Amino acid sequence: GVNFKGLLKRNWLLIATVISVVLGISLGVVVREYASLSHLDKQYFGFPGEILMRMLKLVILPLIISSMITGVAALDSEVSGKIGLRAVIYYFSTTIIAVLLGIILVMTIKPGVSQTAEHIDRAGTTPNVTTVDTLLDLVRNMFPENLVQACFQQYKTKRKELEPPKVLANTTSVPPLTVTVTAVVENITKDYKIVGTYSDGINVLGLIVFCVAFGLVIGKMGEKGRILLEFFDALNEATMKLVHIIMCYMPVGILFLIAAKIIEVEDWEIFKKMGLYMVTVLSGLAIHATICLPLIFFVIVRKNPYTFTLGMAQALVTALMISSSSATLPVTFRCAEENNRIDKRITRFVLPVGATINMDGTALYEAVAAIFIAQLNDYPLDVGQIVTISITATVASIGAAGVPNAGLVTMVIVLTAVGLPASDVTLIVAVDWLLDRFRTMINVLGDAYGAGIVQKLSKRELERMDLTSDVDVANP
Ligand code: ASP
Repeated sequence: GVNFKGLLKRNWLLIATVISVVLGISLGVVVREYASLSHLDKQYFGFPGEILMRMLKLVILPLIISSMITGVAALDSEVSGKIGLRAVIYYFSTTIIAVLLGIILVMTIKPGVSQTAEHIDRAGTTPNVTTVDTLLDLVRNMFPENLVQACFQQYKTKRKELEPPKVLANTTSVPPLTVTVTAVVENITKDYKIVGTYSDGINVLGLIVFCVAFGLVIGKMGEKGRILLEFFDALNEATMKLVHIIMCYMPVGILFLIAAKIIEVEDWEIFKKMGLYMVTVLSGLAIHATICLPLIFFVIVRKNPYTFTLGMAQALVTALMISSSSATLPVTFRCAEENNRIDKRITRFVLPVGATINMDGTALYEAVAAIFIAQLNDYPLDVGQIVTISITATVASIGAAGVPNAGLVTMVIVLTAVGLPASDVTLIVAVDWLLDRFRTMINVLGDAYGAGIVQKLSKRELERMDLTSDVDVANP
């Protein structure tokens, strides 16, 4: 029928993307079964996917700068303050809900109780991060000392470890395992270690802070500021046009990205061993995405939350495929503005911030993983420690950059805060590539719901602005 055709036409990209995911997985499985590729061949195989990632990352910079500046400048400072506050309250409360949900699930399912840490292979190396360093780095990143440098490098604290790591101080309650763990930790900390938050790429947080300040100033400059405002508005429009072109390449990129990943993974056995842990994380994410967030949305916005989720589908698939909220941001913008019709003044202002600090999926994951590791170690947690885990998991999710596996690195602050060996993140490294995808998807969904909710809460201010201002840069 006509409707069906229209549906196809409107959603061809989404349909193509989903088909390419299925094709990619099948291709990966087939190649894995029937061809023996060398290490180099595998890399070549992933090349089209690599190009997709590079293109998405490429537009992040102009997108964040232009959208934040115009987003802030289009609002008067009082309104942007209110909208900002609402967004922060939303981010904080949904993150806490995600953490609590994770804690409840992991304490009921108890995925780590039936086995011990010795039965799981440790893989990879341990980063060494502490809570104080993470917080300090977070604030440091907010104030880049060099704007150009902020576009390609994030601050990393480097420090020589002089004292023995904290883990060693708390060995009495961690029985036999301690011996091996101690050895591992000592080896790692003998030399310089990077402590604090770690991320490659752009210092998004620093740029956001700068752009908010810059946008506020421009907004107050009147006629003179208009030139800049129009410049950044045009930059934003041009960037979004580029995003559209990139999205047309997306099905191809994604096909090879997922196929290459399936070919590359060496240890599938680990999924059996870690099955219950993964089920815990995934069901937590699923509950958060299908019950918690939609409920909040419905109570506030009074619209069908699942239609809203469907509108975000392209962004969700993208996040699932590339495990990075930042690199998904361009697609998040398009879905939020075009399918869900969220006001540009809202999306431009809250989506970049959300992609950087609002990570419900990561927070949930960190809480589950920390308690899972405690269970593996037979390490009892009292109420105080559980509270500590909820707080540090929240901090760790805020501190994590929107790049692949960032949550795994900031996980260390949760572990050390309750006296668990930091090196035990290596227990969960092997399955992180998969969990990372799903938690990133929930991170992106949380950001989108946030934009919808903040828009509804700010309806009155937005309408008032529509009446008073004759020019409306964000919505011409
Ligand atoms: N990859 C996640 C994101 O980009 C962060 C994480 O590792 O949890 O949202």
